[in-house]
Amino acid sequence: MKDISCKLLVIGAGPGGYVCAIRAGQLGLDTVIVDPGKPGGTCLNVGCIPSKALIHAAEEYDRIAHLAHGRNPLGITAAKPEIDLSQTIAWKDGIVGRLNSGVSGLLKKAKVKIVQGHARFRDGKTVEVETETGLQIIRAENVVIATGSAPVELPNLPFGGPVISSTDALSLTSVPERLVVVGGGYIGLELGTAFAKMGATVTVVEAQSRILPQYDAELTRPVAKRLQALGIAVMTGTKAKGLAKAGGSLLVEAEDGSEKALEGDRILVTVGRRPVTRGWGLDELVLDMDGPFIRIDERCQTSMRGIYAIGDVTGEPMLAHRAMAQGEMTAEIVAGHRRVWDKRSIPAVCFTDPEIVTVGLAPDEARRTGVEIKLGQFPFSANGRAMTRMGEDGFVRVVARADNHLVLGIQAVGQGISELAAAFSLALEMGARLEDIAGTIHAHPTQGEAFQEAALKALGMELHI
Ligand code: FAD
Ligand code: NAD
Repeated sequence: MKDISCKLLVIGAGPGGYVCAIRAGQLGLDTVIVDPGKPGGTCLNVGCIPSKALIHAAEEYDRIAHLAHGRNPLGITAAKPEIDLSQTIAWKDGIVGRLNSGVSGLLKKAKVKIVQGHARFRDGKTVEVETETGLQIIRAENVVIATGSAPVELPNLPFGGPVISSTDALSLTSVPERLVVVGGGYIGLELGTAFAKMGATVTVVEAQSRILPQYDAELTRPVAKRLQALGIAVMTGTKAKGLAKAGGSLLVEAEDGSEKALEGDRILVTVGRRPVTRGWGLDELVLDMDGPFIRIDERCQTSMRGIYAIGDVTGEPMLAHRAMAQGEMTAEIVAGHRRVWDKRSIPAVCFTDPEIVTVGLAPDEARRTGVEIKLGQFPFSANGRAMTRMGEDGFVRVVARADNHLVLGIQAVGQGISELAAAFSLALEMGARLEDIAGTIHAHPTQGEAFQEAALKALGMELHI
């Protein structure tokens, strides 16, 4: 097979890698991208998109089941719904397939060469790829490592049999009767809630004292309340120890040392993700590491000239939109543009019920920087649109500097509020002050009005509370 020489080689076609390659191609760089799988990486194939498809199906099922359950204030009656999960999964696979083709098409349009196979460094400028038709050698002036992350496997609870990862959970063809979820973080709660809505009896085991421990307790309270209403048992301060000898039951240990066996047809382990730093020849390079992650500077440059790294392999927050932004910037840097990571905020959305959105600093984080702050919080119980959607639990909170009212952070929890993430991020990126948000006409009736009211409240000028 003839060797390939190129200006830019991207290893990994997840959201970081494929965005990097598209932008590089658009800028006229001779670009090659390598991945053994379908383009889109974790996010498109076994992460963001499939999980949101499953969450949507579960919400629809739950809504109808709720209406069928008995009298409701809407005056609607419905028959008890049924769900054929294999059909739901086929629908989800159809969406993933369409997006796979879309990404391939965009790469081709940008004149990026796609090589399917597993890449491995021979040295800092040469990579070999095992393809179906033989070994392909690629020589590149610049390389971007975008190999992403994989689920953490607990040594005492390896994947296999009843013990499943998020990838397996997104391909189940029937709803398990009893599901035990180990880890009450993003994935555990998003998927645990979806399966509970589809009829599974769900238990969540979380090692820390609260679910979603990275957020403050006020923000997660509505989620904890909803989990309870859905009949999900949450065991905090509890660690998974391993499978009980009897078979499918999980042995857990509470903080006081007491042990318990939890019966589960499936045990979904979602205790974090680890960077993929093995299997591609890290040993052939001299890269500085930052714990388990590849160390990068504010230009995504590693400690080796001409080698960049982006996305989950470079650390937290492991989010698709961070990887994409890094990918876009890195392509422009390789093309000779002067770019540096200057983002004020990376929004985070947890697609639980209700949803959580955060950008910038939480109140405690802002206080720790030593500045005096002002807070404004507005509840959805006083928002007309939220009432008409029966989603009154939750709030929007704005954190700003007390002296000049510069907005430092925004947090919200509420039904269907993920779309507010765009307005929150824009406010932070544009350096908005409380007066800018308060003075912007927000359409009525929308949940976004709670954002305006939270800013008004911080200024002591609230109208609707
Ligand atoms: P990845 O998407 O992991 O892609 C890495 C690619 O590199 C893979 O395609 C892999 O095949 C390839 N690769 C690895 N080694 C090699 C090699 N040696 N040669 C060639 N190719 C290689 N994030 C959000 O922002 N929003 C969400 O709603 C969200 N939901 C999620 C739900 C789940 C269930 C999971 C698991 C994750 C979710 N995430 C979400 C996280 C998101 O998927 C990741 O942050 C994102 O995919 C990281 O992108 P990446 O490009 O760094 O790596
Ligand atoms: P996570 O870090 O969000 O949650 C893991 C949880 O497992 C933590 O709360 C931790 O305390 C707990 N835990 C760890 N070991 C345990 C043990 N032995 N027993 C019981 N609990 C234990 O990790 P995740 O849910 O696996 O998600 C991984 C990453 O994927 C996230 O950090 C996020 O970056 C990304 N993701 C994002 C989204 C989104 O943006 N909506 C959705 C899913 C995943």
